[in-house]
Amino acid sequence: MLDLTGKHVAVLGLGLSGCAAARLCLARGAGVTAVDAKPWEALSEDARKLKDSGVRILAGAHPAEAIQHADLVVTSPGFPSFPELDAAIAAGVRVIGEVELSVQALPPRVPVVAVGGTNGKSTTTALIGAIFEQHGTRAFVGGNFGEPLSDYVDDAFDIAVLEVSSFQMERLETFKPKVSILLNVTPDHLDRYPSFEDYAHAKGNAFVRQTKDDVAVIPFRDDICWHEARRGDGIVRTFGPGGDVDVTPNTIIERTYGHVYPRSEIALVGSHNANNIAAAIAAVRAFSVPAQSIRDTLAKFTGLPHRTAFVTEIGGVRFYDDSKGTNVGASVTALRGLPESKVVLVAGGREKGGSYDPLVSVLRSKGRGVVVLGEAAETISNAVGNALPVRRIATAPSLEATMDAVVRAAFELAQPGDAVLLSPACSSLDMFRDYKHRGDEFVAAVNRLSPSRGVPT
Ligand code: ADP
Repeated sequence: MLDLTGKHVAVLGLGLSGCAAARLCLARGAGVTAVDAKPWEALSEDARKLKDSGVRILAGAHPAEAIQHADLVVTSPGFPSFPELDAAIAAGVRVIGEVELSVQALPPRVPVVAVGGTNGKSTTTALIGAIFEQHGTRAFVGGNFGEPLSDYVDDAFDIAVLEVSSFQMERLETFKPKVSILLNVTPDHLDRYPSFEDYAHAKGNAFVRQTKDDVAVIPFRDDICWHEARRGDGIVRTFGPGGDVDVTPNTIIERTYGHVYPRSEIALVGSHNANNIAAAIAAVRAFSVPAQSIRDTLAKFTGLPHRTAFVTEIGGVRFYDDSKGTNVGASVTALRGLPESKVVLVAGGREKGGSYDPLVSVLRSKGRGVVVLGEAAETISNAVGNALPVRRIATAPSLEATMDAVVRAAFELAQPGDAVLLSPACSSLDMFRDYKHRGDEFVAAVNRLSPSRGVPT
C-alpha cells in the first residue's frame, strides 16, 4: 500500500488525472506541488480547489520548477520529457504516471483488468463493467474513459476495470493486470510517437509484468498483438473469427466451454462490436463469471453515445453519429459495419498523421459521397480524388451554421436507403471542445434538418 508520509511529490499537468493524482498523494501524506502550463484563470475549478487542500500550485510555470526537491514525480498521460526530468531520473528520482500511482495505492486483493487498443476500448470497458455488475461483482470502471482510478482506490470494490491509453502505459513500475486486453493496433497518434512500432510498444507495456497466473487477451492471428503479448508470461486467450472466443456470422462461441451467444440475442450492433464482445467474454471468463450473466448483459447493453449511434431517419436516409471515430481505422470499421449498402461519409478535423488510403478503399465500394470539414478537408478531398463526389464545407461564423451546411450537403448527396455517417477519422480539436461536442452539434443539426429544407416526401 502506498505511504508517502514525509515525501515530496511533483504532479505534472492538472487535467482530470493530474488532479486525482494530487488528491491521492495528499491523502497518503505527501507534500504536493502541482504544475500546469495554463495560467491560474484557465485552470479547471477542480484544479484550483487543490490549493485550498494544501497543494502548492504553479500555474503558467515550466514543469522544471515543480520537480526540484521531489522524491516522486507523477506525470499526466503523454507529458513530454524535458532535460531536467531526464536529469532527475538519472539522479534516482522516480517518475510514474497516474495509472501506476493508483495501482500502487490499490489494496492487493483487487485485481485489475486493463483494456487497451487503438479502437473499441471504451465500449469494451463499459461492457465488462456491465457484465460484472449483472453478476453482482463490485467493479470500478474507468481510467482513460470516465474517471481516474486514483480518486477511488479506497472504495470497496472487488475488481478494477481500467481503460488504458498508450500514453498511460508509459512510466510504469509495477502495473500487472490480472487480465490485459489488447483489442487491436492500427495507426493513430503518429503525430506523438516516433513510429508505429513505438506506439504499439507503448500499448504492449500492459503485458510485460504478467506472469503465468495472468491472462493476455488478443485478436486471433494478429501478429502485432501477439508480439506484444509475448513480452509477458500471461496465458494467451484469443478472440475474433477463429479464436478461443470465436465470432461467426450468427453467433459468438466460447470454444473451450461450449457456451453459445446467438447474435440475434445481442443488443449491440456492428461487426466490430462482435469482436469487442468476444474480447469482453474472454476477460470475464478469467473470473469465472457464469454464461447466464454474460447473456443477460448482452441482451440489454446497447453501447455508448457517439460510437456508431443511430440518430434518426429523414426521407429514407438514416443518420449515424460516430464522432468518436477519431482515426482512420475507427472510421473504416464504422463504415464497414453499417447495414446500409451505401453511405455518405462526413469526415475531417485535426489530422493525426497516417494515410487515408484504407478509408478511400472502403469508400470505393461503400461510399455514395463524402463531405469534408475542418483542417483535414483538403487532404481528405485529395485522397478521395475522383473516386466519389466530395463536398467541402467552409467554416461558417458559427458552429451551428457550419454543421447545418455539413448535414445539408450530406443529405443532398444521399439517396433514400442510404446512411449518412459522421465518422471524422480525425480529432475534433480544430473546431470543437471534444468529440462529444462535435457529435452533439451534428445530432442537433440533423434534428434541425426539416422537411421544409428539401427533404423528399
Ligand atoms: P476507444 O475508447 O478505443 O476510442 P470506443 O469504444 O470509444 O473506443 O470506440 C471508438 C470508435 O472506434 C467507434 O466509434 C468505432 O468507430 C470504432 N471501433 C469500435 N470498436 C472497434 C474495433 N474493435 N475495431 C475497430 N474499430 C472499432
